[in-house]
Amino acid sequence: MNQSNKSNISDALKDAGIEILTCLQCGTCSGSCPSGRYTGMITRKLVRKARVSTDVLHDPDLWMCTTCYTCQERCPREIKITDAILAIRTIAVHEGIMLPEHRRVSQLVLEYGHAVPINDAVKEKRVRLGMEALPETVHKYPDALADVQTLLESCGFDKLVAGTQE
Ligand code: SF4
Ligand code: SF4
Repeated sequence: MNQSNKSNISDALKDAGIEILTCLQCGTCSGSCPSGRYTGMITRKLVRKARVSTDVLHDPDLWMCTTCYTCQERCPREIKITDAILAIRTIAVHEGIMLPEHRRVSQLVLEYGHAVPINDAVKEKRVRLGMEALPETVHKYPDALADVQTLLESCGFDKLVAGTQE
């Protein structure tokens, strides 16, 4: 899918095999959404917004979905709602739109190979518990970290998550 050339989100989704125009706004998705119980996210509204406008790319609710797939399993129109949300996020990221928190976590993965890198306090606790300071991950193996970074850079991940804007 060529994200940046699509002015219409529903057309871009259709190209990816996801049809959202058949949504009847029944609200089954919102009523099933565990994330919606704790955030302001209303899945039905997100789908509606995606049908009519590219504003959905800037909607913070786009990032509240945990991708549990409950809505997708229950939609009476068999709309691939979760897949749609993931596809819209992909479009957003390619347009440079991303929550600062997600951008930072992505940059940590790029830098350390971990979304939550180890710190000195954790290293000390590990040693106190009789373990090696570093776990058996890329933290311990710089060559493996370099491989991860090469992979991420080869697919353009580093450029996608660079910067500090939204
Ligand atoms: S459950 Fe399906 S048809 Fe109902 S509002 Fe959600 S996306 Fe639309
Ligand atoms: S996949 Fe996302 S939108 Fe759907 S029910 Fe789960 S958290 Fe809610």
